[in-house]
Amino acid sequence: MVPLGLDPGEERRIVEGLVSKVSRSAGRPPTRGDDWLQALAVHLARTHLDRVAGCEVRPAGVRWVSTMSHRWGSCTIDTGRIRISDTLARAPQHVVEAVVFHELVHLLEPGHTARFRSLERLHPDHELARNWLRGWSAGHAAARGRLAGPPDDADGDAAIDGPDDADGATEWDAAIDGPGASSEGG
Ligand SMILES: [Zn+2]
Repeated sequence: MVPLGLDPGEERRIVEGLVSKVSRSAGRPPTRGDDWLQALAVHLARTHLDRVAGCEVRPAGVRWVSTMSHRWGSCTIDTGRIRISDTLARAPQHVVEAVVFHELVHLLEPGHTARFRSLERLHPDHELARNWLRGWSAGHAAARGRLAGPPDDADGDAAIDGPDDADGATEWDAAIDGPGASSEGG
């Protein structure tokens, strides 16, 4: 793929260009677009939440975003819109499901209350996904040469939407479970 006869500098630039192209295309499988995410949310709500809620729990929209680096997902309560970090685009399906489900539960319960936790556990892979996310965060923290700290919320429970990325106040490894609900007014 690299033409012959290039000087080393030019060759390096071409290779770096190819690498960054591949990295970008590796971000999100074409089968997992926003439509897939939206359909997944409806499926999860229908399967696990509608009956206990006594109504149809439907987000106004669900989409991937590439701008969230400190948390896995967010739910803007006022608008009913859910955003999922595309860091998770290639994560196992049960992990994406659990994160989407966590945000769906926020439509019923804004804070990480006891009711929230019990609703969140209606997803059968909740614990499994939480552990996967913890491992992922620890791995990233280690890769960045930092010690992974404990979750920053008081109960030490792992969260999914994590601290608000808007205020830039928190670190990736503290974002497994965020302290707060997610009406960030976006
Ligand atoms: Zn949350």
